[in-house]
Amino acid sequence: MKQVMFIVFFFSFFLHADAQSFRMMRTKGALAYLEFGLGDDRLGGAKMTYLDSNVIVQVVDSVKDDYKVKLSERHAAWLPKTAAVPAPDVRPRPYYLSGSIKVYGDERYDYVSVLLDERLPYRSQQTIEPSGLQIDIYGATSNTNWITQLGSAKEILQTWTEQVEDDVLRVHIRLKHQQHWGHALYYDSLYKRLYVRVKRPPEKDVRKWKLAIDAGHGGSNTGSTGLTSKVTEKTYALLMAKELEQAAKKAGLKNVYMTRTKDTTLSMEERIVALRKEDPDLLISIHLNSSSVDTIQGTSTFYRYIGFRPLSQHILKHMLTLGLKEYGNVGNFNFALSGPTEFQNCLVEVAFLSNRSDEQKILRSSFHKSVARKIMEGIRSYSKSLQ
Ligand SMILES: [Zn+2]
Repeated sequence: MKQVMFIVFFFSFFLHADAQSFRMMRTKGALAYLEFGLGDDRLGGAKMTYLDSNVIVQVVDSVKDDYKVKLSERHAAWLPKTAAVPAPDVRPRPYYLSGSIKVYGDERYDYVSVLLDERLPYRSQQTIEPSGLQIDIYGATSNTNWITQLGSAKEILQTWTEQVEDDVLRVHIRLKHQQHWGHALYYDSLYKRLYVRVKRPPEKDVRKWKLAIDAGHGGSNTGSTGLTSKVTEKTYALLMAKELEQAAKKAGLKNVYMTRTKDTTLSMEERIVALRKEDPDLLISIHLNSSSVDTIQGTSTFYRYIGFRPLSQHILKHMLTLGLKEYGNVGNFNFALSGPTEFQNCLVEVAFLSNRSDEQKILRSSFHKSVARKIMEGIRSYSKSLQ
């Protein structure tokens, strides 16, 4: 009996492992992403990267709504099942190679393009002091024998590669300016060429900047509720967003984009897709905070990527002059609209609707104007700090 059990176990394990190790899939949709693990909180699991569509991944396991995908010998990640389609025509190869690299620019962006055997998964990281990008390409082994650099590249100072593991190729990019203005990663629609698109700084004059303003929640998504007033976050976030729009126009900004101007239901995905299309220089998201502990109060600004931190620090500094307590400047924040790398963004959690004193301020229309003025002051002082 024992022996039979063992044989059954052995064969089921073997079949299981064999079927899974050859299950190749491709990413699908505009917002496929990888997560580090299966951890979860109210913002979802910690995201590693967004991925372009049609990127190949090798599925090695499956838990609930996610596939575990093998990125390289030593790295794995989790991909939502909704963002993957089977790719039965694809056979995993023992290795993939990188080809030539080209660095160049057009009117608005610099580019690094990397020729690859296949649309492989990748992730990027911003570095500061000195400013730059590290792009890890999983499964790729270097066969890059030249990096052609053209004078049309204005923001990228240096590009070089490093084989950090046998099957992980890192592309280092050194930037000219200290401040990051965003980057995008995507594949050429016809070829297996990975593009790193780097945004150059806009003109120093704030009036030339394109500002996107996002009023949190909306429609069926009401957000948090006032402690005593029972007002909804969606309503007051929109009132403040509209004041910010006015303040920006008064300051001379001609190009202001609002994700919503009415009580509209908008998913995070819809907002991200729209914002990517608009391609603003800055995004300010406005929310009101809430806690189950009603003594917690204060104002805070949030960023996800280290290269985007300075904007959020300048805005917080000016918000604090409104007499609000400091809740803090929060980094690595997994808020959906802090996720895009394409443009700088700052989430402002103006104050706590769940705190009596903060709530009284939030209810006043003069306070909405003050918040808008302080955010604009923060943006202006940030612009002056740039080199
Ligand atoms: Zn909110």
